[in-house]
Amino acid sequence: MALTPAHDRNLLGLTRSELEQLAVGCGQPRFRGRQIYQGIYARRARDFAALTDLDAKFRQHLAAHYSVEYPRIEREFRSRDGSVRYLLGLEDGEFIEAVFMPEEERTTLCLSSQVGCAVDCRFCFTGLLGVKRNLTAGEIVGQVLALAVAQHVPRRARLNVVFMGMGEPLLNYRPVMKSVEILADSAGLALALRRICVSTAGIVPRIYDLAREPVRPRLAVSLNASNEEQRTALMPINRKYSLRDLIRACREYPLRPRERLTFEYVLLAGVNDSDADAARVADLLRGLACKVNLIPYNAGPELPYRSPRLERVLAFQQVLAERGVPAFIRVSRGQDVMGACGQLSLAGAGAFQPVPIRGEKLSQTILRQRR
Ligand code: SAH
Ligand code: SF4
Repeated sequence: MALTPAHDRNLLGLTRSELEQLAVGCGQPRFRGRQIYQGIYARRARDFAALTDLDAKFRQHLAAHYSVEYPRIEREFRSRDGSVRYLLGLEDGEFIEAVFMPEEERTTLCLSSQVGCAVDCRFCFTGLLGVKRNLTAGEIVGQVLALAVAQHVPRRARLNVVFMGMGEPLLNYRPVMKSVEILADSAGLALALRRICVSTAGIVPRIYDLAREPVRPRLAVSLNASNEEQRTALMPINRKYSLRDLIRACREYPLRPRERLTFEYVLLAGVNDSDADAARVADLLRGLACKVNLIPYNAGPELPYRSPRLERVLAFQQVLAERGVPAFIRVSRGQDVMGACGQLSLAGAGAFQPVPIRGEKLSQTILRQRR
């Protein structure tokens, strides 16, 4: 019998009902599928021998035909701030990255949705790579499991998951939504939906699709500019999906009670960080249930931008606050190991080395402010 290719054997990425069907296809009752599901996702089993609630013959059958494979941890880069950037190898030899960010009361995992990214935002290091391919739901869920196991995250820990690593999640819509379904399923990893956040550069038609999903994560939108011209210069995708259409989609987005949209705004010194920019952002967002995360630009080699000084960041925040828009300054974690927002570019995989941390004073001041 010819061996099934590795990616078809891997059960990671199958939903509960798909595993139930698989069990039935093997002549087993449906609930056996649920037991496999719980074993793989809730108990993090990778060896079918550990699924002791199944009878021995069925376990052997599974072991002969299937496997449970996480993305391989190729390298890890530990930041001074406690976060860890993981370089992960996929079955076809491609690489992605995911970041582990522990905090006192919660842990956040930042996941990739694609190998590279096609969107080409001018300030983003992932964008420099271009896109190689989409990730499967299994490769997305596998990032969570690989990091949780590597970091000994307790099974019932409060985990936040953000799709803010490599790639544009809404350009890999179905697999991303399937991974969200699996992450949030109470029989498996059981993450709270409100702790799963998908961040988009503004793929407008997919925002409308997301609005119609019965199981829906939180939505963050990368705004990054205060008018059409500036946004097109920084994010060429704005030609296809304009700021105007993007804001309209956000206004029509059906928020649940207490839910808010998040807007991310990368602050680039002298480019999009003036008081006038802040006032225009406030106008754009007026009346929307939202908050803004201000992300001072994370530097790296090859790109011409600079991060604003702390006073500028605070002034920008102040203008928004005065106009009724809550804004938070997000110091990206893992800057010293190229693990911060927009820096995921396979640094250290051979291409180039992590850069020393910059703007440390800024980080410390803001961290104090956030406490
Ligand atoms: N593609 C999605 C999610 C990944 S990017 C998106 O664009 O939303 C995650 C966040 O990092 C985005 O808000 C993006 O604007 C931000 N970002 C990109 N490059 C950055 C950089 N050099 N410094 C700070 N933030 C950056
Ligand atoms: Fe892609 Fe997001 Fe980077 Fe833009 S900011 S290039 S959409 S990963």
